[in-house]
Amino acid sequence: MNKTVIITGAAKGIGKAIAKNFAISGYNVCINYNTSEKEAKDLCKELADAGCDVMIYKADITDRGQVDKMVDSVIATFGNIDVLVNNAGISEYKLFIDIDEKDLQRMLNVNILGTFNMCQSVLKKSMLPRKDGTIINISSIWGMVGASLEVAYSTSKAAIIGMSKALAKELAPSNITVNVVAPGAISTDMLKELSDEDMKVLEEEIPLGKIGKVEDVAATVKFLASYEARYITGQVISPNGGLVI
Ligand code: NAD
Repeated sequence: MNKTVIITGAAKGIGKAIAKNFAISGYNVCINYNTSEKEAKDLCKELADAGCDVMIYKADITDRGQVDKMVDSVIATFGNIDVLVNNAGISEYKLFIDIDEKDLQRMLNVNILGTFNMCQSVLKKSMLPRKDGTIINISSIWGMVGASLEVAYSTSKAAIIGMSKALAKELAPSNITVNVVAPGAISTDMLKELSDEDMKVLEEEIPLGKIGKVEDVAATVKFLASYEARYITGQVISPNGGLVI
């Protein structure tokens, strides 16, 4: 039987590349989206036309009720969930003194509570009863080293690393691995607030001399979900072109 993966925020950007990589490798794929309905439907059609087993599901990961219904629906469709990729996330550039409580709460709700909801639901409903599974949480280099003007984002992405390491220890006896992928600068909508000048400066700072591609992150995620990575848990793997070493 094919393995099943659920990827949050997978209609575009890094999540879309992860969904494509798993789908063409023969996984059953659930593409979660919240607002990007057209992109999700287009991606689903593209992959289904290519002979892949895919479904889309609209759910706001900050809402536990919606998350539970999505997880039930994936299990009803594909049988169980082998891999969970918590990719959905938001970012915001602001001076620390301009961040208000609502900004911080929004960031923590999506980036931390959303990841928490997904992990707990998938663990309870599929991975723990079967004592099998792999969770991959998408953090960021800024969760490792901090970014000026991104205190709230860096805080949330550092918390993902802490959550993942603790979970890895708690779940290892249940044969479930938990790892973090912490990308560097990757060309997606998330970087669209940066000017051409900022992008050029960033590129010059990267030892490999280029901004990363979504496929670079997808390949790392796919490796961590593979049999070859079975002895890796609680680790932070950072596809970043050498920006953070
Ligand atoms: P993106 O904005 O294209 O994708 C993020 C997706 O998450 C969007 O489709 C969005 O609709 C979805 N999302 C947001 N809130 C949601 C919610 N409540 N429920 C369900 N889905 C929700 O950005 P991206 O660059 O593809 O980012 C993907 C992940 O990679 C994020 O976690 C981001 O923090 C991380 N990341 C990105 C970069 C980069 O340079 N692009 C670098 C490091 C880490």
